[in-house]
Amino acid sequence: MFANESGTPDYASILHCIEEEVQPMLSQGKVASYIPQLAKVEREQFGMAVYLLDGRSFSCGAAHTRFSAQSVTKLFALALAYRREGHEIWQRVGKEPSGNPFNSLVQLEYERGKPRNPFINAGALVITDILASRFVESEIAVLQFMRQLADSNSLDFDRAVAESEIETAHRNFAIAHMIKDFGNLHNPVKRVVSSYCRQCSITVNCLELARAGSFLAGHGKIPWSEQVVLDQSSAKRINAVMLTCGTYDAAGEFAYRVGLPAKSGVGGGIVAVLPGVACVAVWSPGLDPTGNSLAGMYALERFTTLTKLSIF
Ligand code: GLN
Repeated sequence: MFANESGTPDYASILHCIEEEVQPMLSQGKVASYIPQLAKVEREQFGMAVYLLDGRSFSCGAAHTRFSAQSVTKLFALALAYRREGHEIWQRVGKEPSGNPFNSLVQLEYERGKPRNPFINAGALVITDILASRFVESEIAVLQFMRQLADSNSLDFDRAVAESEIETAHRNFAIAHMIKDFGNLHNPVKRVVSSYCRQCSITVNCLELARAGSFLAGHGKIPWSEQVVLDQSSAKRINAVMLTCGTYDAAGEFAYRVGLPAKSGVGGGIVAVLPGVACVAVWSPGLDPTGNSLAGMYALERFTTLTKLSIF
């Protein structure tokens, strides 16, 4: 029913089916409220887009509506830092799941300021610091990188979200001060936290996000331009870290239910990679208690079930 005679998934019907299935879930999650400006987003929204390496794309729902990328930007910041610095980055940030919430401080003290991975806030702050030593404004470098990958010059910061987060970023300041105290932050705390918050405020829609992440499905190459962003081995490694750490302390549950490397954000977006085939982006602002989009995660679970495609 969801595939043609040769077994190729019928993506249009699959997305249509998923859009209907998620409707009852849209009122169940909780919109992130610790960043005041994010609390204003209407909860009952859902969008999804699939970008296939053969250049076709499919979408449904609010796939054109821009949302706050938040932690999804950590993926692009990591790719940019990795591209610039190579394996050296692992001297300063680990690649193990933390098993703790994304904004937790507890491990940092006894692990002497080396964050567990680049996808929790502590690790993303170290990646921002690495970029801040390379670029005058690291967040602009990340924005330009995302624009290039999404092939869309209209991606931009949401200044209201950035300011709202900077004003309430007590936890991120605490994390950054702790890392600084252990000598693992080279730039001033204020500069790093404010660049990080501005980076998190970048807005994107599902179609742009699916396209932006497609180089990770394309073994490091942008599919439509053949431009090499990362070598094959580095792209594979980023996917590996995404699988184990990309959805905070729900990474095990995510691998079990969805079976794809993915990165989520508290704006309700998730980007997921099917190496060699496609990049998928979903967005729905209602979150589950781990900070992942409730309907988004369910949509991806249904996607891998209905297409019979996953990395396993
Ligand atoms: N900007 C948010 C923060 O640092 C991002 C968190 C997230 O999306 N998980 O708290």
